[in-house]
Amino acid sequence: MKMECIGIFGGTFNPIHNGHLALAQTVLDTLHCTQIRFVPAALPPHKTAPAVTAQHRAAMVKLAIQAHPQYVLDSCELDRQGPSYTIETLHLLRQRFPEQSLCLLMGQDSYQQLPTWHRWQELLEYCHLLVVHRADLASRLVLHAEHTEKFVAIEAFASQCAAATHGFIGYLPESPPAISSTGIRAALAHPGQNLSDQLPVSVLQYIQQHHLYL
Ligand code: ATP
Repeated sequence: MKMECIGIFGGTFNPIHNGHLALAQTVLDTLHCTQIRFVPAALPPHKTAPAVTAQHRAAMVKLAIQAHPQYVLDSCELDRQGPSYTIETLHLLRQRFPEQSLCLLMGQDSYQQLPTWHRWQELLEYCHLLVVHRADLASRLVLHAEHTEKFVAIEAFASQCAAATHGFIGYLPESPPAISSTGIRAALAHPGQNLSDQLPVSVLQYIQQHHLYL
């Protein structure tokens, strides 16, 4: 029998954009997850504290995903104090979903930074890890030595996600569009630019209503 697979998509989402949404859609198509949980970081450990509050960033995620029945906003990191460590989120989700396959999603840039993450070697004890190629990154994926024996080709990875609760790494070479929150924030600082192909209209309207990123 196939195991239920839940995608976990953490990020600063400052703001959420069409690259994030395309990544989630590609993962849904590839892994047949029952849901993807978007988890905005309250205090991202590796970035300077975002000027836009976690509440605003979560509200934008909610707007961006509201029409999609398989996408869920998970605010668990907003309820915690201190840096938003992914390992703590996974611990919580594993308690909540003891029998399900959990798959942590991340872009290639995040994967290369993984050794700077708190208790990163323990991640695979809680979940699978799916790394997605990032079009604006020229370099190829370099696997961390600790992961070489856990890496499987994408077809085998999809099968493992339906059979095991955790423990494998896969790589999706399909790229979401080369959009970044950094680029969007820079563009928003110069009013008058058309960003409608980079983020959902509902998110753009929210940004304008609340005078964010000026
Ligand atoms: P910033 O430009 O502020 O660093 P970002 O666009 O990378 O932000 P995040 O919210 O930090 O957005 O990203 C969350 C996750 O989504 C990260 O793992 C990141 O690698 C991945 N990601 C974001 N945009 C893309 C994209 N266009 N293609 C592939 N992965 C992406």
